[in-house]
Amino acid sequence: MGWSRRDFMKGAALGGGALAVGGASTAAKAQDEMKAVPRRTFEKPEIEVPIMSVGTVPLTAFEPILRAMEWGMNFVHTNAGYADGKAIQMVGRALKEIDRDDVVLGLKTRLGYDSVMRDLETLGTDHVDITFFHTTNPDEPAKPEVEEAYLKLKEEGVTKALGLTSHGSVPQVLEAGLEAGWYDVFMPAYNPGNAAEIDPIMERAAQEGVGGMVMKSLRGGGGEPEQVWANMLDKKHWTTICWSVRNDGNVDQMANFANKWEEYVSADTERALAAAAEGKVCASCGYCDGTCPQNVAVSDILRYEMYAAEYGWVDRGRKLYAALPASRNALGCTNCGACTQGCKARLSIPDRLRVAHRVLA
Ligand code: SF4
Ligand code: SF4
Repeated sequence: MGWSRRDFMKGAALGGGALAVGGASTAAKAQDEMKAVPRRTFEKPEIEVPIMSVGTVPLTAFEPILRAMEWGMNFVHTNAGYADGKAIQMVGRALKEIDRDDVVLGLKTRLGYDSVMRDLETLGTDHVDITFFHTTNPDEPAKPEVEEAYLKLKEEGVTKALGLTSHGSVPQVLEAGLEAGWYDVFMPAYNPGNAAEIDPIMERAAQEGVGGMVMKSLRGGGGEPEQVWANMLDKKHWTTICWSVRNDGNVDQMANFANKWEEYVSADTERALAAAAEGKVCASCGYCDGTCPQNVAVSDILRYEMYAAEYGWVDRGRKLYAALPASRNALGCTNCGACTQGCKARLSIPDRLRVAHRVLA
């Protein structure tokens, strides 16, 4: 065999045209060639990434990362808590097989210095490319302590760029990030249900050079993934879509889509998906969390239910639900209706909470 797996991955990561499949790759999926996935560029600092990137929420094996590298999908996003800590270990394991410089690493954190250092140790590297500050609290993105923590990491060469990621109170968190002005990439929960609200913010972000990375794109489960993703990529404020993978099959699905994504673009489909999401898909607006007199963790519970019912991550959903204080779980809902009045997605929240409790308890 002329290509070693390492050589092959280097070639794929460098981009370019069709590449011959070699070694163990052929076992995963029979095909004659692998075409490197198209790329876009985060502007500040300039970091080139594939239009589909590798999420690791459920990852318990390292081989899918190697498979993604073969397709040139060299942007990997992880967090110490994913898959009970196994995912970040698998990323570290994969890095032993790959030149560090060929990978773009994204790390979700709270910017605590010691925890970032622990994550680097687990990963077996001295730096990541983008450190993502995660919050659902709109008061946090513009705090001076956040910028100070980032600048310290940057000065020490631990990270090149700062991202902001959120799955709660998303519009308010992004607005606060824009106001702060020190973020390079935004990674919000984004789906057909909240697109109308998030897109104008991301358009303004793009004008200021802030890159866009989609997460939780398939929330609501309407339409084929390819249909959902294509209409997102058609909006130039999105640089890449992060999809969490479990296995080589997931990786191949992403890559095959990415190489012909424009064929799936359809304004009619986008309108239909948005209409189908109404009354069904939480828009992550955060209104309910500040409204409930019982302090029920509404948006978190709906997200945990999504993990279990839509993504098939039943254990993860149940574990997160079990970790909530009992006073904040769905049983605390008195059906007062206060939250539903301002729900952006017009969900029947008490009904949804009852369903979620059945799934998660
Ligand atoms: S309907 Fe339930 S979840 Fe909504 S505000 Fe009232 S108690 Fe809270
Ligand atoms: S108010 Fe509705 S759309 Fe907003 S976070 Fe709560 S459930 Fe989701």
